[in-house]
Amino acid sequence: MLPFIRQDLAELTAYTPHPGGASGESAHSESVLDRLDTNECPYDLPEELKQKLAWTYQQLIETNRYPDGGHAALKQALAQYVNESQNIPPLDKGGLGGVKLPKTAITADNISVGNGSDELIRSLLIATCLGGAGSILVANPTFSMYGITAKTLGIPVVSVPRQEDNFEIDINSAKRAILSKGCANGQNQNPPVRIVFVVHPNSPTANALTTNEIEWLSTLPENILVVIDEAYFEFSQNTLADRLHQHPNWIILRTFSKAFRLASMRVGYAIAHPQLAAALEKIRLPYNLPSFSQTAAEFALAQRQLLLAVIPEIIAERAKLIAALTHHQKLQVWPSAANFVYLRVKAALSESAQQEHQQIMQQLKQRGTLIRHTGGGLRITVGSPEENQRTVDRLAAIVT
Ligand SMILES: *Cc1c(COP(=O)(O)O)cnc(C)c1O
Repeated sequence: MLPFIRQDLAELTAYTPHPGGASGESAHSESVLDRLDTNECPYDLPEELKQKLAWTYQQLIETNRYPDGGHAALKQALAQYVNESQNIPPLDKGGLGGVKLPKTAITADNISVGNGSDELIRSLLIATCLGGAGSILVANPTFSMYGITAKTLGIPVVSVPRQEDNFEIDINSAKRAILSKGCANGQNQNPPVRIVFVVHPNSPTANALTTNEIEWLSTLPENILVVIDEAYFEFSQNTLADRLHQHPNWIILRTFSKAFRLASMRVGYAIAHPQLAAALEKIRLPYNLPSFSQTAAEFALAQRQLLLAVIPEIIAERAKLIAALTHHQKLQVWPSAANFVYLRVKAALSESAQQEHQQIMQQLKQRGTLIRHTGGGLRITVGSPEENQRTVDRLAAIVT
């Protein structure tokens, strides 16, 4: 390690979505693989939308100019979308003079936009925990980026388990961890927990937050930030946005990378108390979002009915996939509130189960389907009907 680089970075490895994938062990090139390992929507933007976007790029975007550093138009559209998604009438339709705004109405001041929600996660860590100011709490298995990003900033990560059968957070462990500042042995080496990260529904386990879990989050003190990652909101149709006004210490993260089909554009957004949104605005880089990405996100919002129209198909496909996989005696398959399915090999010895998971993932890859081995199980994205059929057939050939 070069002597000027922080010691603790030496232990970390760069994030690669396909560990070992570049070594050429697969017989297929990336483009012909069924890529069911990163939970994207299986469909690209419709052709006419892509053409309009290309036209906008050619006619309206000045590539020599910096993008809109305030994301004004996008924030406006996002506020409207969020209000719509929690059944609140749009604010600025005119003619509403004198009508009192509902308490929960979201405005542009409640929104901050990031280069993917990954950027927002990092900004939140900087805003709350940097320089020994705090630790974070996660319930594993969960989205790995919280822990990975925290470690790159030297922020301690406190992990608590989930129930084995339904993946509910072990709330008692979480309470104890918060009380003891994350130190099981009582020696308070870690700074206090400043952020609790939850995903709603969770990845990789696909379960939405339960009433119990939400109740617990509601009781957390105001000096702990609760990050509710709703990356899969459009699939679950289950949001906590309408409760934000009761909890200034809650923030909701969402993304254009999943249901909105814009993973390549890197757009995520946060919905929060205006002071927290303002803190995120201070921390982010001034021109964090390219003009083309902003335009694409605005397009996607304007065309949301069209883009989100495939969600019923994906949910129906999810049910078919779960039914087919459940046929295998050997597999335990969990219900899903998202666009992916989580399963494990039923096995008495968990070590051999992990080897089997690894083998299943490898053999699927050789047959042309990429899935994710994570959190002690397998996560499979719901793809197109053809892809899902191939998943079922290929798994049937492997799992005997
Ligand atoms: C996919 C995903 C995201 C999206 O991250 P981006 O940086 O916006 O692409 C965020 N959180 C979770 C839990 C996810 O699964």
